[in-house]
Amino acid sequence: MPEKIRVGTVEVGRGEFGKGVIRGIELANCVSIDIPVMVMNGVEDGPTLLLMSTQHGIEIQGIEVIRRVMREIVKPEMLRGALIGIPVGNPLAFMHHKYLSWIDDLDVGAVRADNPMGNTTERLAYALWSEAWSKSNLIINIHCNTRPDSLIYQWINVGNPNTRDAVWRMAKAIGVTTIVSEEPVPEWAPPTLGNLAYRNNIPVVLFELIDGRWISEPSTSVGVRGVLNVMKEFGMIDGAIEPQEGITIIPGVNRFYGILRANRGGIIRFLKKPGEFIRKGETVSQIYDLYGDIVEEVKMPVDGYIWAYPCGQSLGTSGGLQVVQTGANIGYVFTHEKD
Ligand SMILES: [Zn+2]
Repeated sequence: MPEKIRVGTVEVGRGEFGKGVIRGIELANCVSIDIPVMVMNGVEDGPTLLLMSTQHGIEIQGIEVIRRVMREIVKPEMLRGALIGIPVGNPLAFMHHKYLSWIDDLDVGAVRADNPMGNTTERLAYALWSEAWSKSNLIINIHCNTRPDSLIYQWINVGNPNTRDAVWRMAKAIGVTTIVSEEPVPEWAPPTLGNLAYRNNIPVVLFELIDGRWISEPSTSVGVRGVLNVMKEFGMIDGAIEPQEGITIIPGVNRFYGILRANRGGIIRFLKKPGEFIRKGETVSQIYDLYGDIVEEVKMPVDGYIWAYPCGQSLGTSGGLQVVQTGANIGYVFTHEKD
């Protein structure tokens, strides 16, 4: 670990904490939209852990997790390695309470992140990559589902043999339901933040809390415990790993099965809870029209679980109204493979 760490406008020596910004973009009215960042440099060597929240502008729980970890709990004197905290990964989305950048409806995590001459959101992605992601050894990318009854989970890709062990260590330390993908990222896949990290052998966990629009429990406690557990697992702070509690956890290896979609439009009601085991063919939800007649019984396609109901999806935004149109995303289905 270098004596000094530079991220954006922040430069911190050993045992120091600093805050500042990663330069972002400039609007037509000459107002700069930068990315606030905090950096804590420990007194001893260790990995650099990046905590980023709010890649999607309406998923704010991670902001509080990062604040607790970096402003209340961890101090430079007790830290081995460094922490980089980015409370809002996409300020163009967050500033207008939008899921995506308001300027171009793009996702800073889904566009290419390697092009400083790209479009507006691509430039934000490049700023994140060049200043923070590429300087990190471990990354926790904190998202949230919108409904408070969703299942807290994490998504990992263990397709890269160079990062597989570290990714699993992070996931086990975080200790929530884990969706595992083993598919290597193909060469043709765009150089997004996640794919660049994968190709540069930087382990990433996508940590999905719940109730994204409101700072609330259990997301704060589970998020903070998960981050601290990763820091303990990698020797960044002292202490024993604390198991997660107070939430539903489907242990072991789980696989994403697919998205359940509406075939009719209307109001939707849900008959099963996220995290509840559902047999193939059971009715998950009912769609009824504005006259009150049921127009579709939505069936579970496989024995498994649903982690969230992102109903009302429009403009790429999950979690609007409790209504659906034909083709709307009703639920994320996953199956349990082994304990
Ligand atoms: Zn998200």
